Amino acid sequence: GVPEVPARPIAERRMSRRIQVGPVAVGGGAPVSVQSMTTTRTSDVGATLQQIAELTASGCQIVRVACPTQDDADALATIARKSQIPVIADIHFQPKYVFAAIEAGCAAVRVNPGNIKQFDDRVKEIAQAAKDHGTPIRIGVNAGSLDRRLLQKYGRATPEALVESALWEASLFEEHGFRDIKISVKHNDPVVMIEAYSRLAEQCDYPLHLGVTEAGPAFQGTIKSAVAFGALLSRGIGDTIRVSLSAPPAEEVKVGIQILQSLGLKERRLEIVSCPSCGRAQVDVYKLAEEVTAGLDGMEVPLRVAVMGCVVNGPGEAREADLGVASGNGKGQIFVKGEVIKTVPESKIVETLIEEAMKIAEQMEQDGVGS
Ligand code: SF4
Repeated sequence: GVPEVPARPIAERRMSRRIQVGPVAVGGGAPVSVQSMTTTRTSDVGATLQQIAELTASGCQIVRVACPTQDDADALATIARKSQIPVIADIHFQPKYVFAAIEAGCAAVRVNPGNIKQFDDRVKEIAQAAKDHGTPIRIGVNAGSLDRRLLQKYGRATPEALVESALWEASLFEEHGFRDIKISVKHNDPVVMIEAYSRLAEQCDYPLHLGVTEAGPAFQGTIKSAVAFGALLSRGIGDTIRVSLSAPPAEEVKVGIQILQSLGLKERRLEIVSCPSCGRAQVDVYKLAEEVTAGLDGMEVPLRVAVMGCVVNGPGEAREADLGVASGNGKGQIFVKGEVIKTVPESKIVETLIEEAMKIAEQMEQDGVGS
């Protein structure tokens, strides 16, 4: 077979301070983590925990829950205790919920200074409570709720305005000796967002939470997030990510994981390398790729499976993958680790690939790969 190109990190990671969100380290070279946010009423503890369980199963590492009412604040302790992954309380408007979330044992609290009146006056108490409980704070600046003072100064939510807002709030915490902070400066325009995070990365050493806010429905939001996160992460900027989609949160996690895997920042699990098909295809590539993907769904080992429509690039790609098929003349040549192991009729391609994938997975598990 073709020798594997050794994996090389896409970029040296920006050196940031490390904070602990529960058991998940963020910053300081820790793996980039994937977050999402529940869509249930937080006060509905059962539904929220159910959704958190689904998110956990999909690979989410940190979950955020909204806390707009006292009932939600009251639910935080149970949710934080029973969740399998660290819970961050998301607080706007009401400083009293910041204290409630810290008391409730949330792994971190997100505050949006632009949305909390008299926030600056309460920073001392917040810093003290957070310090007492070892609770990190995310300063979450958002284009849609920028501090009025900065909005007046800059006219709109420019990258400079977002960064100034975040660093101003951080400086208030620093005055009280509190540095257990991560920062986000979200904007719905990837160009502004990329610029804001780039500037922020240069001006502080806090870990950064990446997000394109209000990114839109799944298709648009996926692309906006992939482009923006890709631009930043490929320069080593970003310690934790949240993809925002107008879609179920488990979708956000899937996209987030895929972005990290595409950049080599997270170990690849199953990867299907399939061709786009063209006028040379001698098999229905879309259908084949879909059936193979469905058949191998949930596979826990880093398996690369090539599904190729013809013999032009087919054998080459199929050879470089762990497993592959190159189709032609109603038949499929099945490759394992670069060797043709058999040729099967088209109708048997999917089941043969799945069978062989299982064998390889078993072998990998025995060898301790992917564990
Ligand atoms: Fe076309 Fe063959 Fe390439 Fe697929 S592998 S895109 S069918 S040339």
